[in-house]
Amino acid sequence: MFIGGEWVDSDEKYELINPATGEVAATAAMGNTEHVDAAVRAAKASFDSGEWRNTPPAQRAGVLDKVVATLASRIDELTELGTIENGAPLRLSQALSVGFPLMHIQHFADLLRKYEWERPGPVTGQVLHTGFIRREPLGVCAGIVPWNFPWVLNVWKAIPAIAAGNSVVIKTDEKTPIAALELVDILRDAGLPDGVYNVVIGDGATVGSHLVSHPDVRKVSFTGSTETGREVMRTASDTVKRVTLELGGKGPNIVLDDADIDTAVDGSIFAFLMHAGQACESGTRLLLPSSLHDEFLQRMIKRLETLKIGNPLDPETDIGPVMSAVQRDRILGYIERGKQEGATLVYGGGVPEGVEFERGFWVEPTVFTNVTNDMCIAREEIFGPVLSILTYNSVDEAIKIANDTEYGLSAGVWSNDVQRALDVANQLQAGSVWINDWHNISQYMPFGGYKQSGVGREMGPDALDAFTQEKAVTIDLTGRLDRRAYGLVLGTPKDV
Ligand code: NAD
Repeated sequence: MFIGGEWVDSDEKYELINPATGEVAATAAMGNTEHVDAAVRAAKASFDSGEWRNTPPAQRAGVLDKVVATLASRIDELTELGTIENGAPLRLSQALSVGFPLMHIQHFADLLRKYEWERPGPVTGQVLHTGFIRREPLGVCAGIVPWNFPWVLNVWKAIPAIAAGNSVVIKTDEKTPIAALELVDILRDAGLPDGVYNVVIGDGATVGSHLVSHPDVRKVSFTGSTETGREVMRTASDTVKRVTLELGGKGPNIVLDDADIDTAVDGSIFAFLMHAGQACESGTRLLLPSSLHDEFLQRMIKRLETLKIGNPLDPETDIGPVMSAVQRDRILGYIERGKQEGATLVYGGGVPEGVEFERGFWVEPTVFTNVTNDMCIAREEIFGPVLSILTYNSVDEAIKIANDTEYGLSAGVWSNDVQRALDVANQLQAGSVWINDWHNISQYMPFGGYKQSGVGREMGPDALDAFTQEKAVTIDLTGRLDRRAYGLVLGTPKDV
């Protein structure tokens, strides 16, 4: 772990498992609540010292520029490390471990350079008051990161917070601490003072929740399941912390009857299968017009058969393993449940066969059809390579099915008529809606959920707002109390 500018070990050690092989990839230090206390103390001391928060924004942006340059120079090494850590196939890992983090950090540097830190308040001619509105950092910000996108999500938590002048404590998921730890030296070499970026490894129930309840933490930025998000929000409320919650999803993916079928087939596979379905914004409910169902399914299966599942370090591989044995068994449990509920399994459904799959954690790409929206495989987030296909007979029915969920993170529409697709998009209850596209999470667009998919937004043009607070400074220009304003209170009503 890394606390107050020092590498910190722990008496308790554990093994990181490469999900593709089941072999030990590294040994790591398991943190506890004392590490959390030390990290928050270090972060608070660095914030109170003012060294970083009082560094001019342009200079802070310069530090981020250096981070971007270092990431770019280490692209191959970090890509491979990302694959070993969580099984993302090399091509995907290059985007997740380096490409996106690099673009996103550049975005925060750019925002920092043009951010409106101060603006004038109202000046009235009635009374001689004026003032200004300043944006200031919050203090110690906690980031709680899940295992599926450790690089990208660590960057989303740590970098805008640091850019805005806060000090940060990151709690990584214990399965994937490498990304947050790799960033330590990169930030340090770029000139970030000690104590501003701290990393604690640990489980959620004790280490995570201790961080969320810590009175010196002012904000918690959390990505994970909706269930844990509720718990985080409850715990954070005791000390009235700000929270940003990026939670689960059950993305509805609507194909309209005028869509280009091959494009929609490819896009729908990408939507549910990227990173073996371990993405919160996945399109896991495919809504097809009844008239198109058979042809679409046939083409989809043909396309799925061309995909290569296997060793994620092979550049030809399209689909890698799932994260852990727990995750694999959970996904297989959902597949069983889907069969019991009466959905028709038309593709996959088990662990792939072959020596390659005897070690590590694997699930075949799996497609169910004849799914209805009340089935568990249509309602719950599976977080694996499982697609539920539903049919509809009118666009209104498709929209109704799409919105019939407590989630609201992502949704998509496929059509050759953009206006028609837009009319549907406007009625979908989701924070991100893609037309003829999926997983397009750009640094320029805010990302977050409607309904129980979350609170707040990350990225986008206003990303720094979530890590700053407004201070209203008002000045009485008369230099003596303004009689008209204070007369009643001070007992000089004749002046009012
Ligand atoms: P999770 O909720 O179990 O854990 C997420 C993180 O929270 C981990 O670091 C965990 O240690 C920590 N945690 C667990 N309990 C905690 C508690 N009581 N207090 C504080 N921290 C606690 O989720 P997961 O299984 O690691 O990740 C998968 C889930 O994350 C999926 O449901 C997925 O949809 C969601 N997710 C959402 C987004 C998004 O941006 N919306 C992105 C990625 C993943």
